[in-house]
Amino acid sequence: MKEQTNILHAIPADPLTGAVSTPIYQTSTFVQGAPGVHKGFDYARSNNPTRQVLEDLIATLENGSNGYAFSSGLAAIDAVVKLLKSGDEILAVDDIYGGAFRLFTHIYRKFGIIVNYVDSTDASNVAEAITPNTRLIWIENPTNPTLRISDLAAIAQIAKANNCLLCVDNTFASPASQKPIEYGADIVVHSATKYLGGHSDLIAGLVVTANTKLGEQVKFIQNASGAILSPFDSWLVIRGIETLSIRIQRHSENALKIAEFLERQEFVRHVYYPGLPSHHNYKLAVKQLKYPGGVISFDLKEDDKELATKIVSVTRLFKLAESLGGVKSLICLPCEMTHKSIPPEKRYGAGVSDSLIRLSVGLEDPDDLIDDLKQAFAKAIQTNRETLPEISI
Ligand SMILES: *Cc1c(COP(=O)(O)O)cnc(C)c1O
Repeated sequence: MKEQTNILHAIPADPLTGAVSTPIYQTSTFVQGAPGVHKGFDYARSNNPTRQVLEDLIATLENGSNGYAFSSGLAAIDAVVKLLKSGDEILAVDDIYGGAFRLFTHIYRKFGIIVNYVDSTDASNVAEAITPNTRLIWIENPTNPTLRISDLAAIAQIAKANNCLLCVDNTFASPASQKPIEYGADIVVHSATKYLGGHSDLIAGLVVTANTKLGEQVKFIQNASGAILSPFDSWLVIRGIETLSIRIQRHSENALKIAEFLERQEFVRHVYYPGLPSHHNYKLAVKQLKYPGGVISFDLKEDDKELATKIVSVTRLFKLAESLGGVKSLICLPCEMTHKSIPPEKRYGAGVSDSLIRLSVGLEDPDDLIDDLKQAFAKAIQTNRETLPEISI
């Protein structure tokens, strides 16, 4: 079966009533026939039928054994880190999501979990940076916001050879584009807030494991720590996933047009987009990603932060906001927004310059989005400079 058919039919009709849309089981507890005798559900932190449908669905989508739904992407990441113990080390991609960096640095360091960072775009760097205490390799693919690509199959081999788990944050690609478990990852995490939800109307996180042994450990942590996803938000993510693959296709088509437009602008220093042949790992991107995705970053000549700030302030369709992956386009300046918690030297090292602008390209008509950028560039440049550089069509 093809992907889209598979997704839609992995969502079962309600076994009790036949309802085509998964019912929202808004309950905290379940009546038992005798003490300890029930229909698989006893208390809704441990399990809930609506959440269960989502958890099975994401496991199917990622070709994993088990799926678990959390109250946010960070709660999902937190659950994975809890698989470790004091003294263990994580080796993480250096261009990491700011919230993951904050969690690792300000929460887990004091519990004795050390995180080292590496440029994982060259897998040999990962092999060299592993220490005898490394237990978990943490990759985002593509990364946020510079869309770097790492070789998942090569890193999975390194992880196995060194007795480490490989966890891939698959938020940016989504399973419609890339399934890390097929490349040998042990765990996949998602901020379902982004493409899986897809409509900027919820906060949610998911964990998928490659085998049931790991699945049982994550399930234990989910129940013991309690950061579960509510039945209503579980339902919203299920509903979002129904249209995931067609959304990702359209996000990617739109984004490619915009990335090509940006590359023609004289004042743009570099465009970061896995769908452009100028991408540093284009061949690998084409091999690993079915679609290049809806996120583009670009920075400006002379790293002109003032001009970047003006641009993000005067777009009309691109709304100035953090987050990504929704049907409506968003624009942000990572150094002041999503990546503010990362120290400047570390940020620069990961390629996040002060003039770097990130676009989350939505499902509007791409011509309208390009017109919006054109007017924003014209307005920002006019107020910023004496001479007006050409805006190329
Ligand atoms: C947003 C995001 C997260 C965190 O998810 P929340 O749902 O905001 O907690 C983690 N990883 C990546 C790559 C993200 O973009």
